Amino acid sequence: MLDSRPLLLNTNFPPVQRNQLEILQVNLGYKCNLSCVHCHVNAGPTRTELMGENTIDLLLAFIDQHKIKVLDVTGGAPEMNPHFRELVTEARARGVEVIDRCNLTILLEPGYEDMAEFLAEQKVTITASLPCYLEENVEKQRGKGVYSDSIKALQLLNRIGYGTEPGLSLNLVYNPVGPVLPPDQHSLEIDYKRELQLRFGVVFNQLFVITNMPISRFGSVLMSHGQLDQYVQLLKDNFSLANLETVMCRNLISIDWQGYVYDCDFNQMLDLPLIVSDKSRIHIRELMDRSLEGNPIVTGEHCFGCTAGQGSSCGGALDG
Ligand code: SF4
Ligand code: SF4
Repeated sequence: MLDSRPLLLNTNFPPVQRNQLEILQVNLGYKCNLSCVHCHVNAGPTRTELMGENTIDLLLAFIDQHKIKVLDVTGGAPEMNPHFRELVTEARARGVEVIDRCNLTILLEPGYEDMAEFLAEQKVTITASLPCYLEENVEKQRGKGVYSDSIKALQLLNRIGYGTEPGLSLNLVYNPVGPVLPPDQHSLEIDYKRELQLRFGVVFNQLFVITNMPISRFGSVLMSHGQLDQYVQLLKDNFSLANLETVMCRNLISIDWQGYVYDCDFNQMLDLPLIVSDKSRIHIRELMDRSLEGNPIVTGEHCFGCTAGQGSSCGGALDG
């Protein structure tokens, strides 16, 4: 795989500083029931890296100390971490909103049959990637059979109240297949809602449209086609100053499965750790009593992916 990282480090992206921390995004490990070709972390069934109990305890202490409002869990398939339920239950008991970045198909796997019920009981927000409402496009990105399983899982979630009942939010994520900016979030959401309802009777709350970052697998594909510079230029040409004020790294930190801290998930994938007082590779235990407000954010050329056009974050468009 070609590595776009060295080409992204030198940047003229404007300096950005942190505001008050509100969201903790946590990667619970690389184990996953799927092994998608585009996976940014090479997750799969045989990966053994999983966040351990001690780190989970540190997360909960950090949530208390910093009065974190939102816990956003990702992976791999975060539900496959043996401490997933404990973490979710403890965070919810503290009144923290929990977002599960769910690949949907895990909800149908043996051993996880009661996971959907658990998520509903705990009123966990589910955010799931469904790259397209057309079967062919999904199977190209995620593998054979994934589309019909994703639809079955969405129908299961609808049956238990997701997408319709208050407190049971079900959001879908779309990102474009090629080196183009995503379409308008609002219009695409209308199309998704119409088509999924018509074809499968599926309903959901919001569609989040996310810009592809020129990193990991996608960065490698761009490089192998000689398109990396052109794609970064497209992101730069569509720079919007208004989006700079709301980039997600201002109020979020991203934690890897070992407990190390990054300014965002993309920086985690690029192995660009958060820097505090010139010290890089900070563990969450070192931030227990420390405010990050005003701390400079580590940036690179990929950051233009967050500010281009309608803007992009883990919660979709920034101007949406
Ligand atoms: S479902 Fe997500 S984490 Fe799992 S292999 Fe696919 S892209 Fe990676
Ligand atoms: S890529 Fe990360 S660090 Fe860069 S602007 Fe986006 S959220 Fe912030």
